[in-house]
Amino acid sequence: MLTSIKGRSAIVTGASKGIGKGIARLLAGKGAHVLVVARSGDAAEATAAEIRASGGSATASRADVSNWDDMRRMAAAVVEQRQGIDILCANAGMFPAARLDDLTPQGWDEVLATNLKGTFLAIKACLPSMKAQRKGRIVITSSITGPITGYPGWSHYGASKAGQLGFMHTAAIELAPHNITINAVMPGNIKTEGLEGLGSEYLGKMTASIPMKRLGSVKDIAYAALFFASDEAAYITGQTLVVDGGQVLPESLMAIEEMEKMG
Ligand code: NAP
Repeated sequence: MLTSIKGRSAIVTGASKGIGKGIARLLAGKGAHVLVVARSGDAAEATAAEIRASGGSATASRADVSNWDDMRRMAAAVVEQRQGIDILCANAGMFPAARLDDLTPQGWDEVLATNLKGTFLAIKACLPSMKAQRKGRIVITSSITGPITGYPGWSHYGASKAGQLGFMHTAAIELAPHNITINAVMPGNIKTEGLEGLGSEYLGKMTASIPMKRLGSVKDIAYAALFFASDEAAYITGQTLVVDGGQVLPESLMAIEEMEKMG
């Protein structure tokens, strides 16, 4: 049983749906006040309203993580309403596929601006409050794709997700003296609106390649984020946690076939 996060103030970017919504719901369910952030203000408000309807505390903010002014406004609103920021889940991300022949410089910039620069901007905006409190918990949603694995069409995405970890390693050293931890969850294939957009053939074949034979749920990721946000994780910083049902483990298709023969 983790120490209560009741009353803590948390920001979750990209929380109108998918993994971010799962994290926001869980943190709010554990008593934190959550700011739900997305570019669609209506969708963010709908998620915040859903959380409030189930007894949690949540408000919404329309903000684009790739925009510095938006990030400053987001952090300032939480500091004003809640006197400080305890937890930031830098989760917003996009994964449009484009193979190298079709990947344009603009397509590259768009993915890096949201996934990598957006992670940096969200964190930078929250640091003054966390430093003033001499305490903070930052949880990045990275991926297995990039840091560990590759997949045709996601070279830009993989670069952004590996880049988040490179950023984190130095940020962890700079933030440790301020009692601020920064860690990353590395999801495998998690059933979200974004993943479902990749189509049923992708989802079916992907499920077959995962030793646990199921896609992850947003709760699987949310519990890992909750752990990094907890007091019990106070001495863990600059680290990663893979949550993928064993997806990165088989060394070949043959390993999966052998596993299936075992029944
Ligand atoms: P999703 O279902 O598509 O949801 C993405 C969320 O991010 C939405 O709330 C979206 O709302 C928001 N968002 C996108 N761009 C934004 C921006 N520039 N500024 C603010 N909010 C933004 O995606 P997901 O599958 O939950 O993925 C969430 C994170 O997990 C991403 O970082 C992704 O790389 C990572 N991840 C996912 C999987 C997976 O299998 N699903 C696996 C590994 C890693 P708006 O469009 O309204 O802004």
